[in-house]
Amino acid sequence: MLKLITNLCGIITTIAISTSALAQENFPLDGRVIQSHTAEDVLFVKAQLSAKNFEPAIVHKAQIAEAKRKLKALENKTGKRPNIVVILMDDVGWGDIGVNGGGAAVGAVTPNMDKLATQGLRLTSLYSQPSCTPTRATLLTGQLPIRTGLLRPALPGEGGKGLGGAKTIAKILQESGYTTQAIGKWHLGQHKNAQPQNVGFDHYFGPLTSSDDYTSFLEPWRNPDIVNDDKRMNWAKQSETLAMVAGKSGDEAKPVFDINMQSIRLVDEELTKYGVNFIKKQQSSDKPFFLYFATRGAHFDNYPHPDFAGKSGAKYPYRDVIMELDYRIGQLVASLEQTDQLDNTLIVITSDNGPMLETFPDMGHTPFRGGKGTTFEGGVRVPGIFYWPGMINPGRVSDGLFDMADIFTTAASLGKASNKIPKSAYIDGIDQSSFLLSDKGLSNRRSIFYWAGSVFMGMRFGEYKWLINDLQYESKNTWPHASPFQSSVTPSVYGGKLFNLYIDPLEEHGLLPLKQPFIPVLLPEIKRHLSTFKTFKPKTRLRGLEALSGEIAK
Ligand code: CA
Repeated sequence: MLKLITNLCGIITTIAISTSALAQENFPLDGRVIQSHTAEDVLFVKAQLSAKNFEPAIVHKAQIAEAKRKLKALENKTGKRPNIVVILMDDVGWGDIGVNGGGAAVGAVTPNMDKLATQGLRLTSLYSQPSCTPTRATLLTGQLPIRTGLLRPALPGEGGKGLGGAKTIAKILQESGYTTQAIGKWHLGQHKNAQPQNVGFDHYFGPLTSSDDYTSFLEPWRNPDIVNDDKRMNWAKQSETLAMVAGKSGDEAKPVFDINMQSIRLVDEELTKYGVNFIKKQQSSDKPFFLYFATRGAHFDNYPHPDFAGKSGAKYPYRDVIMELDYRIGQLVASLEQTDQLDNTLIVITSDNGPMLETFPDMGHTPFRGGKGTTFEGGVRVPGIFYWPGMINPGRVSDGLFDMADIFTTAASLGKASNKIPKSAYIDGIDQSSFLLSDKGLSNRRSIFYWAGSVFMGMRFGEYKWLINDLQYESKNTWPHASPFQSSVTPSVYGGKLFNLYIDPLEEHGLLPLKQPFIPVLLPEIKRHLSTFKTFKPKTRLRGLEALSGEIAK
C-alpha cells in the first residue's frame, strides 16, 4: 500500500507543479463572487443554423475568436494540431468523483481526477445516453442513437450491425492526417467490419464486448446452472471470444490476452500499459493523435487489480476499482507529461452512463434520481472533466449543457477536420471548442433531448427538464442483479412533468401547471428537434409522441 500511495502522490505532485501558479488566481479567498452564473439564460438567446444537417448552436462571437487565437498560438509553437485523448469509464456515477461530492465521502478517493478537474474545466451537466452502446455510438458518430439505430447492445446471436456506415470521429481525423488509436471496451459490434480498426482507427487493442460478457457465466453464485454442468459450460464457452483482441486497419482483430476469472483483474492495467506505450511512441511523430481509451472498470461485476483489492475506504470491489481507474488515469496523464505532450493534448474524462443501481451493495453513486437504463438524471448525467494546461483556464466549473455528441463535433473542429463531416446525416453534436477554451466560455448548446431507446422522453432547457412520458422504474436491488432495463414507459395524460433541476435534482415535483410562461419557448424547441427526423430519416421508428399534440407529433 505504501508503494501505491507513493505512486499516486508522485503523479499528483507532478501535475500540481506545472499549473499551481495559474490555479491560485482562480480561487479568491476574499469572498468575491467571481462567477454567479456558469450558464447563460437560454430563454433569451437564439441558436443559429450553420448547415442544414447541423444542430443549431448559440454563436458566441467573442469566445470563438478567443479560442481561435489560443489554438493558432499553440500550433505556431508546436507545429501541429492538438492531440485529443478521450477517456471513457464504464457505469461510473456522477457522484463517484471526489470533486462531485463523492471520493472520500463514498469510500473511494479519486485524487487524480479531482486534480485534473480543479486544474481544468468541470462540467456538471454532461449528458450520456442511458447505457453503454448508445453512448459510445453517439460519442463516435455525433448522432443520437435513434438516428443510427444503435439503441442497445446486440444480444448474443444477433450479430450486430455495427455503426451501420455512420462516419466516426476517428475516420474524420484519420482522413485529415491524425494517428488514431482505440484501446479498451468497444461494444459496437464484434464482426470484422464493425471492429474499431475498420471504422476509422489505425489500430485497436481491447475487449470487443462488455466486461460482464466475459465473466458472468463463469460465476457460480450467478450461474450455478451453467458452472455446475460441464456440458453447458463447454457450450457457453464456445459462444464468445474470451480474450482481448488486437488488429490494424483492414485486418480482423486476433486474440492477444485471454480473459478468465483471474486475468479479468488485470485488464485495466494491460489497457493502460498499452496506452502509455502508444503515448510514448507519439512523442517523435510529426502527426497529432486521437486516442479513444475506454476502460473495463467499473462495469459490474468488478474484480479489482490485486494492488487495489480491499484498499478503498469502502473495501467493496466497485470502490476499489474506482480507485484503480483514478490511478490508471494518473498513469496516462503522467506519460503525456513525461513526453512533453501534455500542453498540446486535450484530455476528456467521462463515463458512458450512470451507475447500475441493481448491483447494490456493490454499485456506483449518483446524487440524482434513477440510474443506468433510465432517462432520469442519475442515468444520463455523467462526470465531465476537460483538462488542457495552458489552454483551459484552471478552476472553471460550468453547468452549461454538453451532450456526448458534442465530443465528435468539438474534436473535428480542433483537428480542423469539420469539412470531413458527412452532409448526408443529421449531426446532433455541436462544436463546443470555444466553450472549452475561452476563459469564461459559455456552452453553445441550448437543449438536451432525452431518448429511452426509440421512445422520445423529453428535453432539458436551461435548468428545466420536461419529461413528456412517464417512466415506470423500480430498482429491485435483487440478487443476483436483475437487468437495469426494467423500466417501461407510458404516455403522460396531462402533458408530462416539468422539473426545475436546480431546486429539485431528484425530479420529484412536477411544476408544469405553475410554469405556463415557459411553454411557448420549450414547445417550439421540441418541435424543431422532431422536425429534423422528417428531413433526415431515422433508422428506427420514433415512439412516445402520443403525449404531444397532433401538430407537434406529426
Ligand atoms: Ca456502461
